[in-house]
Order: sequence, then structure tokens, then C-alpha cells
Amino acid sequence: MRIIADLHLHSYLSRATSKSFVLENIYKWAQLKGVQVVATGDFTHPLWFSQIKDKLEPAEDGLFRLKSEYCQAIDTQIPTSCASGAPSRGEVRFILSSEISSIYKQGGKVRRVHNLIFAPKIDDVANIRKILEGIGGNLNADGRPILGLSSRNLLEIILNVNPQAFLIPAHIWTPWFSVLGSKSGFDSIEECFEDLSSHIFALETGLSSDPQMNWRLSMLDRFSLVSNSDAHSPEKIGREATIFNTDLSYNAIFNALQTKDGEGAPPALEGTIEFFPEEGKYHMDGHRKCQMMLVPKATRENHGLCPVCNKPVTIGVMNRVESLADRQPDVMPQGVKPYHSLIPLIEILSEIHDCGVNSKRVQKAYHDTLAALGPELKILMDVSLEDISRKHSPLLAEAISQMRCGRVQLDAGYDGEFGTARVFQEIKNYELKIKNEEKKRGEELS
Ligand SMILES: [Zn+2]
Ligand SMILES: [Zn+2]
Repeated sequence: MRIIADLHLHSYLSRATSKSFVLENIYKWAQLKGVQVVATGDFTHPLWFSQIKDKLEPAEDGLFRLKSEYCQAIDTQIPTSCASGAPSRGEVRFILSSEISSIYKQGGKVRRVHNLIFAPKIDDVANIRKILEGIGGNLNADGRPILGLSSRNLLEIILNVNPQAFLIPAHIWTPWFSVLGSKSGFDSIEECFEDLSSHIFALETGLSSDPQMNWRLSMLDRFSLVSNSDAHSPEKIGREATIFNTDLSYNAIFNALQTKDGEGAPPALEGTIEFFPEEGKYHMDGHRKCQMMLVPKATRENHGLCPVCNKPVTIGVMNRVESLADRQPDVMPQGVKPYHSLIPLIEILSEIHDCGVNSKRVQKAYHDTLAALGPELKILMDVSLEDISRKHSPLLAEAISQMRCGRVQLDAGYDGEFGTARVFQEIKNYELKIKNEEKKRGEELS
């Protein structure tokens, strides 16, 4: 079966996250988005772990579901069009997972790396937590704890607890906290994980890079590329995600990530759902204070300095990719997976209504759209333009058509400044065009 999975998110117990990030709301928003498997996130935190044990129950092998007594109150808030597995509700599955921030010295340098860890059993999580506490980790402080433990040693710990446990390096290109980051990362996966590198088989590309950027490095060819939301509020679940074609079980997902598909076989790892990477806030180089965005070539020509104030610019993800790349940008290596570049529906509606994403008008439009057309990811990827036009509006159909073709105006983010993706250059012209067409049709009919 086709499964959309979001394997990286947080709870209200992680720093800078929404207070509403509780298991019930993960269950709710997974359905509104059309995501079938979600990470629990934050299992290292004692309070979150006790909620996991209280509110979830075992479902298929290694996966969990929200107990029906917790589903009931939420089910009334989910439009029929989005209730997953309809007519029987509640088909959202949880996978036990947590993110660890490792800060340590290796090779004479300070390294800061974020890693996602996964395990199939509650007992495994209890054991991992015990070991991390034993080595002095403060697991209470943050749902994403900071440990003075190397990425390699973290991997060793989880493999000793259960060989079916696995680790995925998180958002591998972000400058400050990632395995290949320019500030405190490594130049290869092998340099980081040393003798245990063969146990790393998947990498999370993060919001500021997409698969095509990663294809430029032949050293990444052997890895499965995954994408996840890294959500800090339930509304952001599924903004990036991974598409599987497997049975619903921990092992099926584990195997899909590990296997490079043979020829002819239906691929168990189908592809990913992505942002336009320009939207990420470290995509290009630049200096925020001077509102100066630089492409890598311009940074090189300026010797890494801001042309306005002559201070060093912040090197972004594209530059870092180019510095490690051994292929040209347009090369498509064999066996790579397709991906969908999407803009969140709420942003498209905000553009259509010319009103902020948090405004009442756009919020209402968002929920009305889901009620009419189904879960968000289905609308963005699968629902036919005819249906969108007929059941919603020609304007939304036009916007989604533009997005699906990649006809999008992009302003790249840099130095902590988010980029933007817009579908309409001149929305009024589209409105006018559609009105004229309707008028013409009306005239023809009369
Ligand atoms: Zn992280
Ligand atoms: Zn400057």
C-alpha cells in the first residue's frame, strides 16, 4: 500500500514548539494532511514517554496507534473527506522516534550533529533512555536533548539495544547542526560514523535542499534520501514527507529504507515530498543586515565578503553542496527516486485571498477546502484539476496547476531569512482571465 510517512517531528516538550503539540493533535493533523505514519518524536523525554505509553497501543508489528478513547473527541473535528481509512477511522500509525543533538569533539574540532533514532519496541526505548541517562544525559531539559555523545557512539548504543533500531542523520546540510553542515559537520558520512558507517542507509535532506541538489554528490548515491517535516507545531506535519509502497509495519519501513530496489521490482521507497528548497532560510549565502543575498559564485568572487559592508557572509546550503559536489547540477544518477515540490496549501490560499496565513479568512478557507476536496497532500499532488475547479474554484485549480509544473516565482532565503515561493505573478490578471472565460462561456450558452 502507498504510505506517506513523516518521520521527524517534535512535541510540546521540545524548545520553541507549540503548546498544542500533543498526541491527539498529531493524530488529527496527520489525517488533515493525509499522512499515514508519523514519528512520536521526543521519546527520550520522561513526560512524553509516559504519554506515549499511556495513550498509544500496539498496532501492526512495531507500529502504534492512539487508543480509541483518545480518538473519539478528535474524530468529530475531522471532516469525512479526510478521515483516513474511511469508513473505519483512526488509521494513523506512530513509530517510536526521537532527535538527539550531539555536541562533541572529533578530529580536533567541535561537532554539532542532529540525529533521528528509531526503535520498534517500548522496551527498546526504555533501555535506550536508561543508557543515555547513565552516561549523564539530561533528558528532562528538552524533548530534543543535547548530549556530549558522538554520533558514532549513539549509533552503537541503539544497535546494541536492538539490531532493528536505526539512525538517520537529520537535515544533513544545515550550517550549524548537521552531519555535513559547513560550521560544525564533517566532509563525509564515513568521517562521522567511522567503522559503523555501513549501518547508516538513509539521510534526511532537510528543507533547504532537495534530492536534485544531493544527486550532485556521488558519495551519497548509496543512501536512501528521505524528507520529513521537522514540525514544531501540528499544522506543519507533512510539509515534507517520504512516500513508501510497503505493508504497514516497522520492518517494512526499515527494509524499504535499507534496500536499493532491484530492476523490475515495484520500489518500496517511492519518493519524497519536498519544499522548493529556495524557501529554506539558509538556501543561499548572504548577509541579512544588509539584505544582501549572494549565489555561491558571487560569494567566491567577493572572497566571502558582503559587497555592502565587507563583513563575512553566512555560507548557505547550496554553497556547501557545491563545495563537496563531484557532478554538474543537471546530472540525474541511475536509480534515483522522483519527488514532488509543493507549496503548503495555506500559503496558496493566502495568496489567493491576499490575506495572511493566520487570518480568520484564510484559516476558514483552508478548512473549507479540506472538507470539499480531502487531505492537503492529496489536493496538492493527486486531485484532478477538473475536480478542484468544479468543487472549489478555477483560481485554486490554476494555482495548483502552476505549482505542479514548477512554474513558481522563487526568492531564495539566506542568512536566517526565509525565502518565498509564489504561484501568481499577477493574481489580478488570472482573476480577470477566468472571469472573461466564464463570461464568454455564458454568452455562448445563451
Ligand atoms: Zn534538528
Ligand atoms: Zn553586509
